[in-house]
Amino acid sequence: TQSQQPKLRQPIVVVLGHVDHGKTSLLDKIRSTAVAAKEAGGITQHIGASIVPADVIEKLAEPLRKLIPIKLSIPGLLFIDTPGHELFSNLRKRGGSVADFAILVVDVTKGFQNQTYESLDLLRSRKVPFLVAANKIDRIPGWTSYPDEPFIISYERQSEEAKRNLEEVIYGKIVLSLSEQGFSADLFTRIKDFTKTVAVVPVSAKTGEGIPDLLAVLAGLTQQYLKKRLQYAEGPAKGSILEVKEIPGLGTVVDAIIYDGVIKEGDTIVLNGKNGPIITTVRSLLMPAPLSDMRAKGVKFVSVPEVQAAAGVRIAASGLDDALAGSSLYVATSPDEAKEIAEKLRGEVKELIFKGDNVGVIVKADTLGTLEALLEALRRLNVPVKSADVGNVSKNDVLEASLTAKADKSLGVILAFNVKVLPEAEQEAARSGVKIFSDNIIYHLLDQYTEWRERLKE
Ligand code: GDP
Ligand code: MG
Repeated sequence: TQSQQPKLRQPIVVVLGHVDHGKTSLLDKIRSTAVAAKEAGGITQHIGASIVPADVIEKLAEPLRKLIPIKLSIPGLLFIDTPGHELFSNLRKRGGSVADFAILVVDVTKGFQNQTYESLDLLRSRKVPFLVAANKIDRIPGWTSYPDEPFIISYERQSEEAKRNLEEVIYGKIVLSLSEQGFSADLFTRIKDFTKTVAVVPVSAKTGEGIPDLLAVLAGLTQQYLKKRLQYAEGPAKGSILEVKEIPGLGTVVDAIIYDGVIKEGDTIVLNGKNGPIITTVRSLLMPAPLSDMRAKGVKFVSVPEVQAAAGVRIAASGLDDALAGSSLYVATSPDEAKEIAEKLRGEVKELIFKGDNVGVIVKADTLGTLEALLEALRRLNVPVKSADVGNVSKNDVLEASLTAKADKSLGVILAFNVKVLPEAEQEAARSGVKIFSDNIIYHLLDQYTEWRERLKE
């Protein structure tokens, strides 16, 4: 019976894909569609995330009864508000990702591009199941738009030519690229076994076509196949640090995604800092006040006594100045447990911050997640790495790189992702001629470096 069913939490969903393929527009459209269905409950705004409740999904998916069960057993879907694989990298958890499911956005007029492949590699390495949102179908030649309609209804109304053009991009571009990457994929309406085939859902973030199908497939897939993972435990919270921020009047706070359990005011929390694990006490838990627009200036926050998974919450506490984005966060129930967790967390950083090859590049990044993503990308390019760490580029880094440059000029460099180059480092680099490559998009950073290396060879 219903009462014997374990309670499920909201699946945590991230949006990834190449720049300009429509990630932000898609999230905006999902939010505005949910808000428009407000008699059913609208959306709930969290820190760094939005929740679309189950009743809204059920209402929007009414015309798609065959695709999802009428009654959802998940309480809704939690969407991480900021798209992109750099941020996704921070949702780390031992043995995988805090994200339960991903939407890989692909522009149907462009097909797979650089960051689509990067995203796919990350999803694969973190074992995160995903579907593909084939976006911008309003730009398919001959397509007639039916705003906000489910795709399956809009599709039936299209001309034979428009249908053919759609099939051509879905199969000729997207399904083909996925199969080259080792994934079998198909249009979601034709899939028999969703555990073996990646679903492709055609959408338009502009007209809203396909949004009901997207939500229905997300809800249906996650509640059917991720039940175990989504079982909610009443115990102490587990989470992941998305961002570390300085807020006037509050000091340094962390924005965290809680994927299990409960966190309360006064709880002891353990997380990683740049100089080792931090054990501190929750001073307050902050959530956006209901009905406030996250993007409007002067968002009001309210302090709440407790938050349960899945949730995005801002945590104020002392001692968070060098908290590390990408770190795990745990609530400890005793001082001994806090110490135990701290030791485990120390290992989490050690795995990444390493002394690697004798001769290799030096890597600096702003978060644990981006450091890991960058190291993975370099591994794929067979670029040896001498050392990797979180933090700004220091004079020491430059001295280390200039030593390497003596053995191999092409490797005596620093790759800096979204961090500052300290003035002394800059001076030392100018003096010794060490190249510092700096960017906040991984593939741009790698392009800069590989192009320079090619020129050096000539
Ligand atoms: P992001 O970089 O992946 O976040 O992409 P954006 O959401 O910023 O979208 C990039 C551009 O594509 C913007 O000019 C959007 O207006 C446009 N765009 C996004 N989705 C659609 C769509 O479904 N149809 C059309 N025609 N344009 C879109
Ligand atoms: Mg964007």
